[in-house]
Amino acid sequence: MLTALKPQPADKILQLIQMFREDPRDGKIDLGVGVYKDPTGLTPVMRAVKAAEKRLWETETTKTYTGLAGEPAYNAAMVELILAGAVAADRVASVATPGGTGAVRQALELIRMAAPGATVWISNPTWPNHLTIVKYLGIPMQEYRYFDAATGAVDFDGMMADLAQVKAGDVVLLHGCCHNPTGANPNPVQWLAICEAIAKAGAVPLIDLAYQGFGDGLEMDAAATRLLASKLPEVLIAASCSKNFGIYRERTGILIAIGEASGRVVTQGNLNFLNRQNFSFPPDHGARLVTMILDDEALCADWKAELEEVRLNMLTLRQLLAEALRAETGSDRFGFVAEHRGMFSRLGLTPEQVEKLRTDHAVYMVGDSRLNIAGLNRTTVPVLARAVADVLR
Ligand code: PMP
Repeated sequence: MLTALKPQPADKILQLIQMFREDPRDGKIDLGVGVYKDPTGLTPVMRAVKAAEKRLWETETTKTYTGLAGEPAYNAAMVELILAGAVAADRVASVATPGGTGAVRQALELIRMAAPGATVWISNPTWPNHLTIVKYLGIPMQEYRYFDAATGAVDFDGMMADLAQVKAGDVVLLHGCCHNPTGANPNPVQWLAICEAIAKAGAVPLIDLAYQGFGDGLEMDAAATRLLASKLPEVLIAASCSKNFGIYRERTGILIAIGEASGRVVTQGNLNFLNRQNFSFPPDHGARLVTMILDDEALCADWKAELEEVRLNMLTLRQLLAEALRAETGSDRFGFVAEHRGMFSRLGLTPEQVEKLRTDHAVYMVGDSRLNIAGLNRTTVPVLARAVADVLR
């Protein structure tokens, strides 16, 4: 049986990590994988997470099964963090999931169960896992234009023209903030128009919220999600705690399904069913830490302060990089780097230029020229700017 299996294509980002590890050059720079690094190059355990873990170790008396949909306190705390009362509680169903990926996967399975023929509309480009999971589940898919490579901004006209083709009952997958891989995001006025286009089409948004707190702050980063949730009859939200709590390996996420209050019990039952079929109980450790932090005033304040440091560090690096690129290339071509938000920016280099960055300068970024801003520091920003100027010559 196993001999019938075909090799799977290698994951490009994991391949890049391997090549980086094997590169013997001093001063090599890893801007590949999407993990936050502090100015010393470490991905630290956040202070509030450490404190919660200590408290948990001291107080936890059992590891017996918890709720199938997750601990109710976790779901309640996450719904509050994301929606902040934008939607009446009796319209909200939710399940804890293994990370944001698990939430995206469960959302797409729910869509397939509820609307087997519905097309899922995906931004071009998007996080590659969106594409592969949709394909793997055999769900019809279409792309909408999203990124204007010439300006580094959202191709808003193209996006709106494509969203006008969306049919009633289709699903539009949106990045709630900090678009991956481009870093370009709609402004509040544009979000309002996107919301109206989805309402007009009679479609359902699936919002992937993986970076709340990494862009313009916890509240601003949830603003588009809250807007859509408050205006539209049905909304799905797949959120991750991997980045904003720095608990990547604990696999902590949530899927929120908002609909009519009269259907909430059935929706919740279907979410529970999907958890039961796929993995039964969701992971608890990370979810419990998140709950302890969000429900404790002092821990929550400390978490927010550290998250803000993380966000501001990335914003500073963006400004420094935009300035350094301006100085090295003598043009404003890369000004968008300072306007982008979140961990990533797509620089708009060719695959050959990306390859040259790696071979000639030991700078590693994904082939579409997506770079992880958090992989930089004050020392490596000018090195990268000089390398980019060199490959552009
Ligand atoms: N969505 C997007 C757009 C992402 O970039 C990520 C992380 N790379 C995720 C979801 C999910 O991350 P995780 O499963 O690690 O929580």
